[in-house]
Amino acid sequence: MSSPSAPSSAWAAVDERRLWARHEKMARIGATPGGGVNRQALSPEDAAARQLMVRWAQDLDLTTATDPIGNLYVRLPGTEAGLAPVLTGSHLDSQPTGGRFDGTYGVLAGLEALQAIRQSGVQPRRPIDLVAWTNEEGSRFLPGCMGSGVFSGLMSIEELRPATDWNGTTVESALATLHAATPDVPTYAAPPPHAYLEAHIEQGPLLETADTTIGVVTGIQGARRYAVEVTGEEAHAGTTPLKNRRDALRTAITMVAELNREMEAGGEAVRFTVGRFDVEPGSPNTVPGRVQFSIDFRHPDLTAMKQLGGRIEPICQANAGSCSVYVQLIDDMPPTAFAPAVVDLVDRQTAALGYSKMRLPSGAGHDAMYLARVCPTGMIFVPCEKGISHNEAENAKPDDLAAGARVLTACLVELTDA
Ligand SMILES: [Zn+2]
Repeated sequence: MSSPSAPSSAWAAVDERRLWARHEKMARIGATPGGGVNRQALSPEDAAARQLMVRWAQDLDLTTATDPIGNLYVRLPGTEAGLAPVLTGSHLDSQPTGGRFDGTYGVLAGLEALQAIRQSGVQPRRPIDLVAWTNEEGSRFLPGCMGSGVFSGLMSIEELRPATDWNGTTVESALATLHAATPDVPTYAAPPPHAYLEAHIEQGPLLETADTTIGVVTGIQGARRYAVEVTGEEAHAGTTPLKNRRDALRTAITMVAELNREMEAGGEAVRFTVGRFDVEPGSPNTVPGRVQFSIDFRHPDLTAMKQLGGRIEPICQANAGSCSVYVQLIDDMPPTAFAPAVVDLVDRQTAALGYSKMRLPSGAGHDAMYLARVCPTGMIFVPCEKGISHNEAENAKPDDLAAGARVLTACLVELTDA
């Protein structure tokens, strides 16, 4: 047995092959012909993934627990009972044509960390709870991050229960099925977390491009989602002169062009996407009477986000011409800044382990967004091939995954002693 205060001995027990083998095994649940996974939230595949986690936990003699929203917890006990736990984890649900690493990596890296700590003989003072959060993706049931949202008190389970998927199945009934799949798992009970640290693939190209192993994540950029509706008037394509038309499509295209021009001038950090465009009535020989389009706007800086975001509606109004436009803000998530102490910890442990590193904000949303509201929070990124994610082709290297798990382990050990 090594000294309880020697974190180095724990990270050294991280096993690259074991971690990779667990990824391969997990990827068989909901495997798609294209090499990815379809393991949507609260589906039979999601339940099977949780059953596998429970089996792995039992093999390691670790206890499991769950809560009403279906989060699954695996506990490595601490030496001082009753202390606030250190949390780590991510999600096991996927997009319909998702990859093998998004979310799954954070859960399996957490399990690897617990096993490595136990194997090394290090005795953590606080318990470490590994969590698989329910429905991070939000592809089957909206909104995403349900598990972490409810855990952090920012969403109410009562309001989520009636939400339905495309078949009319409610969250309530899907949760009942999920819980029935792991009937002997008791209810989770713990004080509010001491800290949260999530490992994840980057889902972007920055680390790979810079040939860097570890992303020290500083926060998560803010995101706004809008629905824009442009209303004109349907008219005959053959008889109506151009100057007499109230063409909703022509107007919408002008708006999007102007928006893109302004956003591009707003700097490198701006993310602006019109990903959906619906034209009515959708007939080749009728002037479109109505267009609805989506806007996804993100920025890591709150001031810039407010300034540029505040331009969206005025630009739409200024370019409405003879049509009318209604701009609806659907979702407004401010940027999340992670706790400097946790960011510094990740930075320091990465340096101590000798890996190359880069500080960067997360472009995608994560469960850590919600945890950051209730405890000091951070994230560790590892590279993924060509930055591809939300795609069956998503890929990552075993040695990068192991490097991230080692940094995670070293950080968790330090957090449990604080
Ligand atoms: Zn994810």
